[in-house]
Amino acid sequence: MSAGRVVVVGAGVAGLVAARDLAAGGRDVTVLEASPGAGGCVAPLTVDGLRVDAGAESFATRSPAVTDLLTELGLADDVVLPVASGAWLQTHRGAVPLPRAGMLGIPGSPWAADVRAVVGVAGALRASADRLLPARVGHDAGSLGRLVRVRQGRRVLDRLVTPVVAGVHAAHPDEADLDAVLPGVRDRLARHGSLGAAVAAMRAAAPAGSAVAGLRGGMHRLVAALVEDLTRRGVDVRSGTAVTRVERSGAAWRLVTADGSPLAADDVVVAVPGPVALGLLADVVPAAATLDRPADTGVVLVTMALDAPALDAAPRGTGLLVAPGAPGVRAKALTHATAKWPWLAEAAGPGRHVVRLSYGGPGHARVPADDELFDAALADAAHLLGVPLRPGQVLDRVRTPWPAGLPQVRPGHRERVSAVRDALERERGLHAVGAWLAGTGLVSVVADARAVAARLAA
Ligand SMILES: Cc1cc2nc3c(=O)[nH]c(=O)nc-3n(C[C@H](O)[C@H](O)[C@H](O)COP(=O)(O)OP(=O)(O)OC[C@H]3O[C@@H](n4cnc5c(N)ncnc54)[C@H](O)[C@@H]3O)c2cc1C
Repeated sequence: MSAGRVVVVGAGVAGLVAARDLAAGGRDVTVLEASPGAGGCVAPLTVDGLRVDAGAESFATRSPAVTDLLTELGLADDVVLPVASGAWLQTHRGAVPLPRAGMLGIPGSPWAADVRAVVGVAGALRASADRLLPARVGHDAGSLGRLVRVRQGRRVLDRLVTPVVAGVHAAHPDEADLDAVLPGVRDRLARHGSLGAAVAAMRAAAPAGSAVAGLRGGMHRLVAALVEDLTRRGVDVRSGTAVTRVERSGAAWRLVTADGSPLAADDVVVAVPGPVALGLLADVVPAAATLDRPADTGVVLVTMALDAPALDAAPRGTGLLVAPGAPGVRAKALTHATAKWPWLAEAAGPGRHVVRLSYGGPGHARVPADDELFDAALADAAHLLGVPLRPGQVLDRVRTPWPAGLPQVRPGHRERVSAVRDALERERGLHAVGAWLAGTGLVSVVADARAVAARLAA
């Protein structure tokens, strides 16, 4: 690999992983991070003395990208699966178990009892038209919403797919690029003839067992392990150092930081969230300036520790996704963390529970004002979990804002991303990684960061 300094801008998982692979290949790497700590969306918090995840808490097992990384970092033995009880869905008519066989809420079989319980007989009947329609119907859909609507109908879209996509991508399915959120589904539809058969085949092709896994002690341990590994490799990780400009400087690059001290680099890897990245790249990559800036969908999480023995029975499995407009609740999702992760239940002990509610996102009620938020969270937790909860049962609570939210994957996302990547290809020494390009989720981010680092090395 060539010599010369690489500066990675942003110490989220994308930046840390790219930095690690580049350092492993012998490059001199510096990482500049704006906030006081590394990790970005993967961070810890402490509630009633329990250390839990403040952001991402699991990773998809559909690809080995994260598991391989954890193995390299010596964390393979700490990979854990969530309890198999599964999640629930809060619908207009109350709470029901989330149908199991499907992807992003799209059922493999519309007549399965758990599907029928949500969409009713009329919804199942409409959804079964999917099997009769020619495979070309919906094949050219730009959005996930359009595909589901034309093939399986409104009820499946509104009652199943919308809450799941809102939870995972903070977007309505009509605003979700089909190829970005469900890659490969078009080919499967052409091959298998129906959307139900396509998602069933995709599900069958995924590794057996849970669709997600976590780390004993919390996903934030990944960040601590990456930073430790980078330090061992001599990488300089500078927190509290925001980059404000990226400029060409002869054949190399110059980075201007908020404290005014410039830094020279032969290669720059921009690993910041989309809106920041587009701002940094606009001057040097004109194509970036023509792109839509990703819409910010700020999300606020409330994590509460509760003294609530009634929750020992995990009345709603690992938690619930809320269908937009479901009455009596403002949260868009609730994770019953102590019911989901046995390591956390053990740390909490019987009767003590950690629940996490998320607020904000398209189609859902506005995030309650700060002075109402904790009251709203307790009321929502009681409503969703179906147990009375009094203020005296709250042992501790923490508000975590994620103002940048999740990057949007609107229709045309893949083309926009390709345009940025093509423009970057033409700029010697300038590279970009992160969820706004790779897609939301640790699996996408890790795999893409490694691929970009490998291309840079080549
Ligand atoms: C609440 C929440 C829950 C989630 N849950 C899951 C989950 O369970 N499973 C899953 O797979 N995914 C989950 N995700 C998504 C996943 O966490 C992200 O897709 C992934 O962590 C993004 O990594 P990244 O490195 O691209 O970006 P980020 O994590 O956003 O990191 C970008 C970094 O750049 C820094 N930065 C910003 N501006 C500058 C600047 N000017 N100069 C220097 N540094 C800068 C930021 O401070 C940050 O550290 C969740 C996300 C959120 C918000």
